[in-house]
Amino acid sequence: MLLRPRPFLLQALKPLHSSRGPLAVRRTLSAHAAAADAAPRGDAPPPAPRTRHKNSRTPVPPRVSVSTALFFPPGVERDAAVTEEMVLPGSNIVVGPYAGDSRVKEAEFIGCSAHARDCPKDDRPEFAVLGRSNVGKSSLINALTRRKEAALTSKKPADAAPRGDAPPPPARTRHKNSRTPVPPRVSVSTALFFPPGVERDAAVTEETVLPGSNIVVGPYAGDSRVKEAEFIGCSAHARDCPKDDRPEFAVLGRSNVGKSSLINALTRRKEAALTSKKPGKTQTINHFLINKSWYLVDLPGYGFAAASKTARMDWSSFTKGYFLNRDTLVGVLLLVDASVPPQKIDLDCANWLGRNNVGLTFVFTKCDKVKKGKGGRPEENIKEFQENIKLVYPEPPPWIMTSSTTGLGRDGLLLHMSQLRNYWDNEAT
Ligand code: GDP
Repeated sequence: MLLRPRPFLLQALKPLHSSRGPLAVRRTLSAHAAAADAAPRGDAPPPAPRTRHKNSRTPVPPRVSVSTALFFPPGVERDAAVTEEMVLPGSNIVVGPYAGDSRVKEAEFIGCSAHARDCPKDDRPEFAVLGRSNVGKSSLINALTRRKEAALTSKKPADAAPRGDAPPPPARTRHKNSRTPVPPRVSVSTALFFPPGVERDAAVTEETVLPGSNIVVGPYAGDSRVKEAEFIGCSAHARDCPKDDRPEFAVLGRSNVGKSSLINALTRRKEAALTSKKPGKTQTINHFLINKSWYLVDLPGYGFAAASKTARMDWSSFTKGYFLNRDTLVGVLLLVDASVPPQKIDLDCANWLGRNNVGLTFVFTKCDKVKKGKGGRPEENIKEFQENIKLVYPEPPPWIMTSSTTGLGRDGLLLHMSQLRNYWDNEAT
């Protein structure tokens, strides 16, 4: 295919010598010109902008002397007569006949890939942006796309899929224009959770730990976006749940902990978990199919004061039956309200799951809520909660701080779920 562009890096590294004759070049040129709005008509390179407009706020950098070693783009012979006006200001780049409409009208974050083989499979050309940390990569991507947070998405932990086997570095700081807060990093001296694929004695830097959590990101972390969420149905007993082999995560917590809000935040659907909204009433197991590949399961909330004693008793046998019999259960997300001091009912539940070897992740909710006085700070409540469960959990279970109000921890939690799920999909079955 004549017009297939070469990857940018190769092009930049290899001086281009056209192997095609002028006629072939002209033909490809006219084909390209038809597609590009402002493509040049003819063989002559278009002049680059000459001066800074007097009202323009964009400074025009000084022109580079044509005696500089120039980069000749495709379509310009190396011995072509080049004037300073044909060279992009502040660069060594000659503008050639393939230059065309370069405006960025749309920019959409498509996703992250753990391996080259997972990258989009369509034939669209792409440019890779590379550089050491802090070089200004995100800012450049944002400037090119004219989106304040375009590159922020790819900096959030959820999108920081690993490249190769090494855990990826999650986002470093909160972007000053970002509305999604990035929680404080947890010191690596914290009792960390090492996911499948990461040795317990692996060298872990703070950057490989999901912000606001003790969760190390490992090589199984992958695409964690929720593209589709479909309510599949509710089951009165574990035996009535979907019978296919898809992995699932159960969401559990006492009434009013923020379970519906979290499910809605994870699925980005305002009303996904509306069925569970009436405290103490929904005594069913609700399955949401995510991306047609895994389930998020909404379990009845426990401990609602208005539920009758019998209803609470039923909850126990009913939900316990689910935990003990559900083979496709990858893990439980046990929601704990971080805006209040540890509650006995949550500790009892955590201890029961621990004793029965049901894998769980503590999802601390409402971490945006800070009240005055003792027990008013989420960090303190979380620490105290962890102290309380140490006896049953000598190995630290994973935990993460979230807020459905601000979006805190959402992407990190999804990334963590992706690493557990991918491990389950690939190794555990
Ligand atoms: P559920 O009974 O566990 O499903 O809890 P809901 O999701 O219905 O939430 C209970 C209450 O807590 C509602 O008033 C929510 O608006 C509030 N809530 C839920 N999540 C958060 C959060 O992250 N931050 C704050 N400040 N409030 C929350």
